[in-house]
Amino acid sequence: MSRSAHPAGPRHADVLPEGHYSAPPADLNTLDPKVWAQTVDRGDDGVVRVGGVDVKALAEEFGTPAYFLDETDFRARARAWRTAFGQDADVFYAGKAFLSRAVVRWLHEEGLNLDVCSGGELATALSAGMPADRIAFHGNNKSTEEIHRAVEAGVGRIVLDSLQEIVRVAHSAQELGKRQRVQIRVTVGVEAHTHEFIATAHEDQKFGIPLAGGQAAEAVRRALKLDGLELIGIHSHIGSQIFDTSGFEVAAHRVVGLLKDIRDEHGVELPEIDLGGGLGIAYTSADDPREPHEIAKALTEIVTRECEGARLRTPRISVEPGRAIVGPTAFTLYEVGTIKPLDGLRTYVSVDGGMSDNIRTALYDAEYSVALVSRTSDAEPMLARVVGKHCESGDIVVKDAFLPADLAPGDLIAVPATGAYCRSMASNYNHVLRPPVVAVKDGEARVIVRRETEDDLLRLDVG
Ligand SMILES: *Cc1c(COP(=O)(O)O)cnc(C)c1O
Repeated sequence: MSRSAHPAGPRHADVLPEGHYSAPPADLNTLDPKVWAQTVDRGDDGVVRVGGVDVKALAEEFGTPAYFLDETDFRARARAWRTAFGQDADVFYAGKAFLSRAVVRWLHEEGLNLDVCSGGELATALSAGMPADRIAFHGNNKSTEEIHRAVEAGVGRIVLDSLQEIVRVAHSAQELGKRQRVQIRVTVGVEAHTHEFIATAHEDQKFGIPLAGGQAAEAVRRALKLDGLELIGIHSHIGSQIFDTSGFEVAAHRVVGLLKDIRDEHGVELPEIDLGGGLGIAYTSADDPREPHEIAKALTEIVTRECEGARLRTPRISVEPGRAIVGPTAFTLYEVGTIKPLDGLRTYVSVDGGMSDNIRTALYDAEYSVALVSRTSDAEPMLARVVGKHCESGDIVVKDAFLPADLAPGDLIAVPATGAYCRSMASNYNHVLRPPVVAVKDGEARVIVRRETEDDLLRLDVG
């Protein structure tokens, strides 16, 4: 975007994307509870705290950059989803958002189930004591070895993603003398994001078996025929960061249409329907996510209505929130390094991490918030771009944000809502060491995933 093309207008209008807040917030010291974890607040000394522990003490003990996860908030969110859907539904936490053994134990204790989509995630879940029958195994290209391990472990369901996989899972089950519970993931032609969704006949993507052209019906035919499989339901997942349930309405309508066809052709009513995940959270004050109980009510009504229309018994519903549980519970703490004001444009604020600990901004153009957390400031707001330390100009953590103009090297800033898809997508680019995840609760902080060391790097590099 050329600055000279927009000479007029308010100071920030030409550099902020359309629809973005164009004025700085009234008070930069205020923390919007929508984007910060539940126990985060600012102490009387101006230092931000989580779980009662201030960020200066956390930085001192654990270093920066680091992810700090509010365990109280995580448990509360997990419980809210569990309670909202009640006993007639299942909530599977999507482990890919963030998985560690501590998280697995919390989920187990709060009564949630768990989605995994690789051998590594399965190993993590089992090693932390998640009962296998509460695990669902996903993925568009599970290896025969992964399938074998999942069947052997006794996972509660494998979500079949291709025609080939149907045979592979049946084969493993027979070899092990078992009958494996499976769902079939179908693509219903609905793609949802924020307040919009697109509904087409086909979906141009690698996941699932298309409903269109009778492929899903054929998958059902094959799965029902194989002794090693118990087909328990149909699965669909329509998108991410969704605020509106209308996309689910179209998806449920199409899935129920398939359930009806299955009943008419085979005389069986499949007992389960999985609507996937993708529910949105607030990354900035402009986002307005709905509460779990509202979503549960809407989804339950949709499925019930569609099934009544098709004269089917209402199947047991499952959902798979990942981001909506863990996303808001963590923030990334950085130390400010170099600061470069670019006259008339913005100020580049470099931090000691970057795209290696948060790839979402570079990958999805994601928006984040940021705040000065080691002190308060009465200085004027300055338009800032928070960037990392990597050798890449797209290494941006927060594209547009206001920070106080007296920001200085050594200050601590924090980016909220980084619990999902940040540590789990972290990389070693530039041989940067991946940050730790520290859980904080009731005045105590403990490392649940430790920081990588140079020894870790060198151990993999065998010379
Ligand atoms: C990614 C994914 C989820 C979780 O998505 P969120 O946006 O984190 O809620 C759930 N189910 C499936 C099949 C997925 O691929």
